Amino acid sequence: MAIRKILIHPDDRLREISKPVSFPLSDAVKQIIEDMAETMYDAPGVGLAAPQIGVSLQIAVTDTLWRSDEVRHDPDKPGADRDLKVWLNPEFLWKSDEIETWEEGCLSVPETYANVTRPAAVRLRWFDMEGKQHEQDFTAFEAVALQHEFDHLLGKLFIDYLSPLKRKMITKKMKKLYK
Ligand SMILES: [Zn+2]
Repeated sequence: MAIRKILIHPDDRLREISKPVSFPLSDAVKQIIEDMAETMYDAPGVGLAAPQIGVSLQIAVTDTLWRSDEVRHDPDKPGADRDLKVWLNPEFLWKSDEIETWEEGCLSVPETYANVTRPAAVRLRWFDMEGKQHEQDFTAFEAVALQHEFDHLLGKLFIDYLSPLKRKMITKKMKKLYK
């Protein structure tokens, strides 16, 4: 297992369209997934998509329980209340007309938070590590987190939803802080 370097915006690799993974998963892909989980918990974050570590594959990991407001756990006890989920080749089958606004942040745009409006509910189809297909509806924070993560697989960042001026300011700040 290894903690990978998280790419910071602006980086062309964050803008690539990811390719689907094929089953059965190769050892290399399994290693990438393990590393992504470790990198997410280390950051710490509630989600990480493969392009954020420079891998252009349709893989994301999330743990919305770990950092959620409802389930606060002792940060000194890593491993407590964890709910790691691995999403492979995810595809939204439906998004609600009803929208909701949440404050979002991203490990690739550090120390930056902004309100983003997205569909409030989604129906998702995805595959697990065994190659089994799943379909489920999600709402509230999970719906937001999944839409945010899967945008990464399309080369999209949450700042793309902001005004051009705001985005420009954020990009400038990132270049100053991280280049
Ligand atoms: Zn992100």
